[in-house]
Amino acid sequence: RNIENKKSEFKINKLLLPKHMRKTPPMPSDPIPFGAIDTDHMLICDYIPHKNGWQTPEIVPYKPFSLNPSAVVFHYGQTIFEGLKAYRSKDNDDEVFLFRPEKNAQRMRLSALRLGMEPFPEDLFVACIEELIRIERRWILPSPDSLYIRPTMIPLDEGVSYRASKAYRFYIILSPAKCYFTNDTGISVYIERNLSRAAVGGSGEAKCGGNYAAALPPMLKAKENGAEQVLWLDSSEHKYVEEAGAMNVMFVYGNKIVTPALSGSILQGVTRASILELAKDLGYEVEERKVEIAEVIKDIKSNKLTEMFACGTAAVISPINALIEDGERITINNGKIGEITLKLKESLIGIQTGSLQDPYGWRLPV
Ligand code: PMP
Repeated sequence: RNIENKKSEFKINKLLLPKHMRKTPPMPSDPIPFGAIDTDHMLICDYIPHKNGWQTPEIVPYKPFSLNPSAVVFHYGQTIFEGLKAYRSKDNDDEVFLFRPEKNAQRMRLSALRLGMEPFPEDLFVACIEELIRIERRWILPSPDSLYIRPTMIPLDEGVSYRASKAYRFYIILSPAKCYFTNDTGISVYIERNLSRAAVGGSGEAKCGGNYAAALPPMLKAKENGAEQVLWLDSSEHKYVEEAGAMNVMFVYGNKIVTPALSGSILQGVTRASILELAKDLGYEVEERKVEIAEVIKDIKSNKLTEMFACGTAAVISPINALIEDGERITINNGKIGEITLKLKESLIGIQTGSLQDPYGWRLPV
């Protein structure tokens, strides 16, 4: 079966490398730092207003861009991106799935609108990913490892005057990805009491480059304090928990899963939404509400809060074993990883990689 010839309903031009010029994908046993390896091809689609807007997408050999130093992209932060994965079926290496790519398409639209950019058509977003994955299929590591997909959009206009760009480039690059934080002893999080990731009315709900730049100094502080990730609080009162690193966060109280309600400054995680739905169907109670950091600390200390975890595409579910602040380490459940955390992780990975039924229709076979 020649998978490269499967047709997309959209026209997508292909300028592929001759087979003998293509690289050898890594072996699963190789050390593969996240995002470090490029594949052979990428997809590019430009928006040019005076040429009817979005051009025909092109799959071309992976190569650098050449941009004018005055280009808007280098000055005013109009950059947005997405992150999702292609998984191989656990039982049949030839089967490949995407997980809810339409959710990433929707979120990229939201990000574009927040930053005054031209939204990329959602159905074309999914079609572009499908087509690129068909071509770069051999780069997908065996399950539960995967191939990370990074759709990105940048402005193309030149000149340093401050304004929204008129022309844009949407592109997709790929990178083989090992399972993040495979170490199931969990991670610790540093409570950041001063700096915030995002503010209501700001750009926290958008997946834009600037949010991640401003989150870097607290990341360093977390590392200096011996924690793996930052625990972010709200920006106005510094009182409510928002996210953990570049992940959403959940708390387990007995049979109940609690997570911060989407406040406008929390990224609407696809993993978060999926876990909430899954958890309900697995018989857990689910609550989205404001969660006070003081309450969390008190409930950990009294063992009322029994499990805590972070969730996102990269890490799937990462158990949190302790909160760290001012040299104090507040250990959750004696550092033991909770059963519910593991159960949810197993269920979600099972759906993503095809070993469990998918009653939700979340898997998209490619
Ligand atoms: N919060 C932030 C700030 C993130 O960058 C991410 C990763 N996209 C998430 C949460 C989790 O989102 P998702 O489940 O869609 O990967």
